[in-house]
Amino acid sequence: MRMTGYDTGYDVVVVGAGVAGLIAALRSASSGRTTLVLEAADEPGGCVRFHRVADLELDRGAESFATVRPAVAALAAQLALPVEAPLGRAAWIYHRAGPAPIPAATLLGIPAHPAAADVRRVIGWPGAARAALDRLLPRGRTPQGLGELVRARLGSRVLRRLVAPVVAGVYSADPAGLDTEAVAPGLLRALGEVGSLTGAVQRLRGSGPPAGSAVAGISGGMGLLSRALAVAVVEAGGEIRCDARVSGLSRAADGWAVAVQPATPGRARGASAIAKAPGPRTASYPVETILADRAVIAIPAAGAAPLIARATDGAVTLPTTAATEVLIATLVVDEPLLDEAPRGTGLLVAPDVTDVAAKALTHATAKWAYLARRAGAHRHVLRLSYGRGSATPADSDFPDLALRDAARLLGVPLARRQLVDAATVRYSGQLAARRADQRAALEEIPVQLQRFPGLALCGSAIAGTGLGAVVTNAAATPIGDVPPLGAGSNYDEQ
Ligand SMILES: Cc1cc2nc3c(=O)[nH]c(=O)nc-3n(C[C@H](O)[C@H](O)[C@H](O)COP(=O)(O)OP(=O)(O)OC[C@H]3O[C@@H](n4cnc5c(N)ncnc54)[C@H](O)[C@@H]3O)c2cc1C
Repeated sequence: MRMTGYDTGYDVVVVGAGVAGLIAALRSASSGRTTLVLEAADEPGGCVRFHRVADLELDRGAESFATVRPAVAALAAQLALPVEAPLGRAAWIYHRAGPAPIPAATLLGIPAHPAAADVRRVIGWPGAARAALDRLLPRGRTPQGLGELVRARLGSRVLRRLVAPVVAGVYSADPAGLDTEAVAPGLLRALGEVGSLTGAVQRLRGSGPPAGSAVAGISGGMGLLSRALAVAVVEAGGEIRCDARVSGLSRAADGWAVAVQPATPGRARGASAIAKAPGPRTASYPVETILADRAVIAIPAAGAAPLIARATDGAVTLPTTAATEVLIATLVVDEPLLDEAPRGTGLLVAPDVTDVAAKALTHATAKWAYLARRAGAHRHVLRLSYGRGSATPADSDFPDLALRDAARLLGVPLARRQLVDAATVRYSGQLAARRADQRAALEEIPVQLQRFPGLALCGSAIAGTGLGAVVTNAAATPIGDVPPLGAGSNYDEQ
């Protein structure tokens, strides 16, 4: 174990304090390694953080997790955080012919029973008849991209009206070229076994959870996950330094030299937000280069790619996708007409819709019981996401654009007088769904990194978007002989 002064030398330095970086740091610190996390923002959590709107602590990024992988629930259990299922209301789709509940038996919008009444309500008889051909079509060659697969087996109506809105809402991506295995683990294998896509969906759903229950949240908000992880890192002896952007990574004599760009040029700042956690080893040293035996990169691909390229002298090239802009607009409104949850837990907007700019709306107080209790009578939290096409609207468009979209989507008049508070948050490049044509290159990255001892990569840059994938990956990414998280328990794929 390295015994240098703790402001310059560490066993493990983790770049990025999102959920992935915090998990890597927790594994490292818990196994007795001196561990430092460097975070560019002013608090840890990355896409899983809170903000306050109308005095409510609300998730500003991720607000749920898919339960198809067991890892997030296992992590919540380890951190003693209560998992909460969404209220049993359906989610809806808003397509050109109007709003309709998302059919009950679907997976990423792919129906298990194309002729079911709730599916026909969205795709009509012609769409259902085309989709039913799935059972008759020969297996043929299976396209790896989700969009191509759905179009080939079920036709373009299912793709446009069901799958595209769900995928846009969840991954901010077009289904064309999307890596099916990354977004729907096990679907391709089930297709190979049963011979039809609808049959594969039926198989994966088993006896079938009701609509909407394929996700869960944490009672109190997903932000509690990052908060609890950060506290656990600090309690295990790790250090988290915020306002510390890593700008370079290079080989040093016996490890890695990490260049840190202070928040204020010329003056480094120490960890601020995490100082509230019990017993932190935080400090305000003017650190610019930090030495570490091992460096773990846990930042999105756009930032990770140049760091890795430089650290490996160009030998390892991390695939990246075009940066995705997403804007989350949160409205807190007082409106009794919303008490009935007119569109269930919210709506996903089909890409060809022209009278609404948002791509999804979550009626958060109709989805999460804990939030409805906190908000109180007739007060509602609406979360709209923007980023259809290539650009997001300007800040000056809000809150009016969000009020107008929410009114149209929910079928309830909403104006400034009902608005209690509003907030917007922008994300750039954090959502990067894995593409089918990148799979081979991404699978090669861990193999290539083995040639650079002490260098590791985890999180969305390698695992793709979504907490299930990110937690599964960060729990097991090799970091020297640091044990995986919850070894022997439920973090692996089932
Ligand atoms: C708006 C939104 C909604 C989402 N909703 C869901 C959802 O409901 N369910 C779900 O499963 N997933 C959701 N996701 C995706 C999920 O949140 C992410 O895939 C996951 O949190 C990524 O975790 P990460 O640790 O890999 O990266 P991030 O959360 O991106 O964390 C990376 C961290 O690194 C820091 N950083 C970046 N560059 C540097 C640098 N040079 N030096 C130091 N630090 C740096 C960043 O500030 C950040 O804190 C959502 C994402 C967004 C943006």
